Amino acid sequence: MKIKSLNNANKYDNSSKKSFKGMIPQKVLEDLKKQNTKESLKLLDSCLGFNAVYRGIENMNPDRIAREMADKFHIGTDFGNNPFVAAFSALTANICHKLGFALPSNVYLKDLTGTRYSNCMGFCTVYPYDESIFRKFREGFPLKTTVFNARQDWSSIQEYMIQSKRVNHSPTGHFLSVFIHEFMHNAHFSNLQERFGRKGERVFSVTQRKFTNQDTIAMIKKETSDYGAKNPCEMIAEEMTELIVDSLNPKTLLPNEMIFKMNRLKEPFQMDKLIDACWNGDVKQLELFRKKKFKLKELLNKLKD
Ligand SMILES: [Zn+2]
Repeated sequence: MKIKSLNNANKYDNSSKKSFKGMIPQKVLEDLKKQNTKESLKLLDSCLGFNAVYRGIENMNPDRIAREMADKFHIGTDFGNNPFVAAFSALTANICHKLGFALPSNVYLKDLTGTRYSNCMGFCTVYPYDESIFRKFREGFPLKTTVFNARQDWSSIQEYMIQSKRVNHSPTGHFLSVFIHEFMHNAHFSNLQERFGRKGERVFSVTQRKFTNQDTIAMIKKETSDYGAKNPCEMIAEEMTELIVDSLNPKTLLPNEMIFKMNRLKEPFQMDKLIDACWNGDVKQLELFRKKKFKLKELLNKLKD
């Protein structure tokens, strides 16, 4: 997930010229309510949830949340004393736990300036050695650590997400989207590890190859988001994020497992196949979706073997 698109996204916003920091103002909430579309009401739910977190932030103790994350989920944390990151991490861990997804081993907040993740909002450690991380931090992060970028102003993430959804960069405008997205990279990687053992790393790297099939790209842009059309790995994180966000109870911010499963079943046929192939690491199937369309003769040959 990239940070830099925020500046581009602003120019698409005609509804409010002024950028707002912090809590989402009443005027914006009223506008969303007035629009009364499925999407605007979803955004309204997220804004109300975000404002509730914002109001509680003064009384939030990142150290206490860190202890709870360790006790309940065995997740090591370094929130850099940022209460927003602590709160978002705890909410996301509870959501993913309830849906039965593997959780990250650690959640860190680090300034990623100077690394290859400098413009990313976060990333997940899936390889034991990462040269640019090692160079900056003089050590690697443990495998399956989810790292969020301290360069991002997490207290204004809701505003960012509204813009991001508006330009279809993100499939949802929910304030927890980036956290859920990164947790899903980890859950996907863990699933491949479980299925393929050490070979899982290699299978995961196949999912990081760019899509070149224009039909597949168009389908993902329509069903999920522009960012998801980058490669299968981002597609699955974006798709899962959307399914999870759509299953959240707006008051408790916990998912409804039944709604999650039902929405998953409602995916269009081709998308359903692509999601399964990516999640389960079916490389052969995935490559058919990913690559430039085979010519008919080639396709017939493929079908023979
Ligand atoms: Zn991602």
